[in-house]
Amino acid sequence: MTDYAIPAPAQPSLPIEGSAQRFPVHRIYCIGRNYGKHVKEMGGDPKDQPPIFFAKPADAVVAPGGAVPYPPSTRNLHHEIELVVALKGGGTKVPADKALDLVFGYAAGVDLTRRDLQNQAKDAGAPWDASKGFDASAPTSAIRPGSVPPSGGITLSVNGQTKQDGELSDMIWSVAEIIAKCSELWTLQPGDLIFTGTPDGVGPLVKGDAVVGEVAGAGTVEFTIA
Ligand code: MN
Repeated sequence: MTDYAIPAPAQPSLPIEGSAQRFPVHRIYCIGRNYGKHVKEMGGDPKDQPPIFFAKPADAVVAPGGAVPYPPSTRNLHHEIELVVALKGGGTKVPADKALDLVFGYAAGVDLTRRDLQNQAKDAGAPWDASKGFDASAPTSAIRPGSVPPSGGITLSVNGQTKQDGELSDMIWSVAEIIAKCSELWTLQPGDLIFTGTPDGVGPLVKGDAVVGEVAGAGTVEFTIA
């Protein structure tokens, strides 16, 4: 046993549907601008850019039942419902036609975003860490095992009102293509999560809001902003 000078940090993890075992989270990668309508609502052209990746710390993940506080230093917290890919394998320069072999399962997650800070960062050409990678910024459902990417609807409601209502088929980059592209930039590892982008309809959350995000074939993420 390693004799650490301070207590070793806890291993972030998520439950697995139908299992008593948990999925240990290694890294959280995210892709931006991956649904045609959302790219347009943010003022872009879906076809003019390669995928944009950013990351959240592994301990930004919030397992079902965990607290999601309204974060400090923002007045514009936004929801982004996303299909989450959980990896059981890794590698670099993974070909797209081998990429799904790395997949352990899928989940529903919300890429919480301090939109005011993100807009300031975009204007300044500054990094997105503070707008995307803050504490408790990745509430995620249990992981549903299986390697075949789900299809169907991706929706999010706030206090019972539908805010996002998209289709997984509207993704610009497929799950396999995202894994392949991500592995060109980082060595993927077992335990990595990849948030695959959000459809249009993103909007603000306030304290007390009850959020329910459903991704067909992947799960339901539910939390209340504390
Ligand atoms: Mn996102």
